[in-house]
Amino acid sequence: MAVLVTGGAGYIGSHTVAELLDAKEEVIVLDNLEKGHREAVLGGKFIQADLRNIDEIRKVLKENDIEAVIHFAAYIEVGESVINPLKYYNNNVIASLNLLTAMQEAGVNKIVFSSTAATYGIPEQIPIKESDRTAPINPYGETKLTVEKMLKWADDAYGIKYAVLRYFNACGAHISGKIGEAHSPESHLIPIILQVAQGKRDEIKIFGSDYNTKDGTCVRDYIHVSDLSQAHVLALKNLRKGAESNTFNLGNGTGFSNKEVVEVARAVTGKTIKATDAPRRPGDPDILIASAEKAINILGWKPKYNDLNKIVETAWKWHSTHPNGYNG
Ligand code: UDP
Repeated sequence: MAVLVTGGAGYIGSHTVAELLDAKEEVIVLDNLEKGHREAVLGGKFIQADLRNIDEIRKVLKENDIEAVIHFAAYIEVGESVINPLKYYNNNVIASLNLLTAMQEAGVNKIVFSSTAATYGIPEQIPIKESDRTAPINPYGETKLTVEKMLKWADDAYGIKYAVLRYFNACGAHISGKIGEAHSPESHLIPIILQVAQGKRDEIKIFGSDYNTKDGTCVRDYIHVSDLSQAHVLALKNLRKGAESNTFNLGNGTGFSNKEVVEVARAVTGKTIKATDAPRRPGDPDILIASAEKAINILGWKPKYNDLNKIVETAWKWHSTHPNGYNG
């Protein structure tokens, strides 16, 4: 039986497919390739389909023997979600509703769901625990939380078991250098900083310098994409063992300010990297740092990359060998 990976041609999806293949899992990737890259899928069967069309999902579930689903496919940009929230409800909520409906009809009862620290909004405490209040301050986080709630009721009613994985800031690239981060347009901090190092941009604009943090810039918890991917494999195995549905934070438990990230990138690349202060981006909390004790204790998760220098090195290896992402 196969594991269906939606959004498996995307950044975290493609790295998880790589981990699943290493773990000798049978993998089927479903991606509409709106944001994903066919070349990022290193193996398994590939199906181009759109989750917003439920009949396409029904067909995939009918024609393939699917044991479990790992659901990544979604829009992911906080800033864009504030400007165009309905786009996010459509792709993140409606698509997930379709997927769950088709799973329920086909009797597929295990799902690992790609969620986010943005579900917490302004944190009650640092580090953030899974039991803390969820009160998103942007539509991206709200759509992810909506799906989390849908999963809870679907478990109660139909027995679909889930692992919700709330990612903090995914970054870095596969150690092989074969796959990495390639968003277009790029909106994330580390790849944009590295584009400045490559001379593809003149400067990094730091959004907000008056936050309530050590240097006034936002603080985030950066976690390597392969460590995130490993957690998906463990969550799947845990569901197979009959685990109850559960929610896990995935982060390193350490925060870096935006200015500190620029410093790390300067050290790794040896480039000057011009940074300028710019206005705040809407929807950004001051500080997001995870407590990942639950994933460590229950899933046996062991993040390997706990040094931001090493993480940025893997990203730099990818970006410097693929200056145009998957286009060469
Ligand atoms: N950021 C920034 N300049 C940029 C892109 C991002 O200052 O060009 C900041 C952003 O405001 C946030 C942090 O970097 O404080 C991380 O943002 P990113 O979009 O990478 O991840 P998010 O936290 O939104 O998932």
